[in-house]
Amino acid sequence: MIIVPQVWSGSSLNKNKGLVDHLQSFGIIQSKKVAEVMETVDRGLFVPDGSPAYLDSPMQIGFKATISAPHMHATCLQLLEDNLQPGMHALDVGSGTGYLTACFALMVGSHGRTIGVEHIPELVSTSIKNIEKTAAAPLLKDGSLALHVGDGRKGWPEYAPYDAIHVGAAAPEIPQPLIDQLKPGGRLVIPVGTISQDLKVVDKNLDGSVTIRSETSVRYVPLTDRETQLRGY
Ligand code: SAH
Repeated sequence: MIIVPQVWSGSSLNKNKGLVDHLQSFGIIQSKKVAEVMETVDRGLFVPDGSPAYLDSPMQIGFKATISAPHMHATCLQLLEDNLQPGMHALDVGSGTGYLTACFALMVGSHGRTIGVEHIPELVSTSIKNIEKTAAAPLLKDGSLALHVGDGRKGWPEYAPYDAIHVGAAAPEIPQPLIDQLKPGGRLVIPVGTISQDLKVVDKNLDGSVTIRSETSVRYVPLTDRETQLRGY
């Protein structure tokens, strides 16, 4: 875990830049594009008031959900960068605060399409309000970015196939609809497992077959049904 000193002066965007600089110096952010998008989307706008936004740690956001740690956001953006080119289609399952969804939308732009699916309606409303405060707001307005209430295990067929699919919660196994909704050449990044979890990278090859590898071990909240989540799993 990277602890960003709490004595930053200046605006929250400066603090956010400090966090991005740290993630770069630790080699977690490797590309200019990922650094730029994480500098543009201020994490401070996505965490509940009073949370230490610029610590490299996940944080509670209510409803038994968390905003992922910045190093996980960075890792997933790096893994998906080539599949988040302007004009591409991106799906963020378990979009939570909307932080990564906003990053995806800025990367694929207004000629692309970004969909967030989250099963807690209150989190969807908050995520829209969060994104409205960022540079991604015009994309919400022009409809190239949308966040929906739904069971993300089913994906979002309307704008399939997707170049990039990210899942922000751990699935016991990879949901088939997500593989089906991946474009040939597309990539799915998904934590898989229950007690021990691996971040899996699923690449759909041009012949439609898939290649799956484990990137790293991780700890995410479960991808489950709403009732189980609200009961506390
Ligand atoms: N990337 C998000 C992660 C939020 S935590 C962020 O950093 O803000 C994971 C989210 O997945 C939670 O908000 C949880 O409510 C949601 N979730 C869990 N199971 C789901 C399902 N079946 N469909 C949609 N969302 C789900």
